[in-house]
Amino acid sequence: MKRRPLLAGNWKMHLNIADAVELAKNVAAAAEQSDRDVMIAPAFTALSAVAKALKGSRLFLGAQNVAWEAQGAFTGEIAPPMLTDIGVRMVIIGHSERRHIFLEDDAMINRRLRAALNYDLTPVLCLGETLAEREAGSTFQVLEMQLRGGLQEVSAAQAAQVVLAYEPVWAIGTGRTASTDQAQEAHAFLRRLLAKIYNKNLAETVRVLYGGSVKPDNISALMAQADIDGALVGGAALKIDAFERIIRFQ
Ligand code: PGA
Repeated sequence: MKRRPLLAGNWKMHLNIADAVELAKNVAAAAEQSDRDVMIAPAFTALSAVAKALKGSRLFLGAQNVAWEAQGAFTGEIAPPMLTDIGVRMVIIGHSERRHIFLEDDAMINRRLRAALNYDLTPVLCLGETLAEREAGSTFQVLEMQLRGGLQEVSAAQAAQVVLAYEPVWAIGTGRTASTDQAQEAHAFLRRLLAKIYNKNLAETVRVLYGGSVKPDNISALMAQADIDGALVGGAALKIDAFERIIRFQ
């Protein structure tokens, strides 16, 4: 089964509108030269301007989170139709910073994910263990809880639309990447679990990205692994030369 590589940039809480538009245009130009899928997720304040600048481009525009209701009294949240209204097509859900800094749990992440699916937004569901969990030997248990929790009440037809991102918390923004063996082992585990929860066919089609200190010099080794289908990139996605080299990995 050949899965199309997806290189995704998570811009986190960086860049004003002008800088975001400029970077987005440069990423779009780089993506034009490539047959891979490329996504960028700017901060909410820049989404609308970036969407306008990307009109006609093959880049996927992503958001960094989404609410589970279409509207209402949810101060500080952004509804799914507000995102689709401006051309957003993907959304990062359950990022480790949401889980650990803002205390989002699997139940909340599940609600966000189901809302995204209901509005045809492709969710990028992030999962990953902390260093303490890895050292305690509970990595697979944590991943299983997060995957089952995130996909609660999600049908096979809907789950087929989901992208997973395995992001070991200890590798995010630390310069410490998981070894290719560690990453492949976790990805293969997630794929086996998808086969168990749904079916083998679905497990073979869902893309599983790796995230955590992905750089131009480690992307090729990661992408050479059988179950790694792309990357969710933080720091290196903010610099066009680095992200372009990641998009063009050999
Ligand atoms: P990083 O972030 O590439 O800066 O480690 C990855 C992420 O948080 O998605």
